[in-house]
Amino acid sequence: MKRTDSILQSLRQDGHRITKARKALIEALQRTHQPVAALELHARLSKSKVTADKVTVYRELKFLADIGVVHPVHLKDNIQRYELAPESGHKHHLVCTECKTVKDVEMACADLHNLERNIGKKSNFTVRGHSLEFYGLCSRCA
Ligand SMILES: [Zn+2]
Ligand SMILES: [Zn+2]
Repeated sequence: MKRTDSILQSLRQDGHRITKARKALIEALQRTHQPVAALELHARLSKSKVTADKVTVYRELKFLADIGVVHPVHLKDNIQRYELAPESGHKHHLVCTECKTVKDVEMACADLHNLERNIGKKSNFTVRGHSLEFYGLCSRCA
């Protein structure tokens, strides 16, 4: 099953309505394969003739983030971006500082568990999670 279909199915099962805007947002995120800013998503929806004002788009993204269907992505530029959440866990990113493309890193969170434990021990801090972005140059910009 496509990720979008499984997301829509689980939304339905949990009793959430599938509005046009909601569906369009999930599909737009599926198509991009990289984190997208709310404003950009709003522009894409308008282009595909889905009428949803900016407030609706922000509200929908917040709702989808609250229920874990999309993940907010924070990069260094303070623009709030979103991506479709994977089946489990979350993604790590490679961010090109030249062309601003963002790619997923093939790396499991489990690879970081030892590091989290060590950092926790050293800092007397209970680590509950992390977000990880690598900044540099993609092959086209290097
Ligand atoms: Zn680049
Ligand atoms: Zn992780």
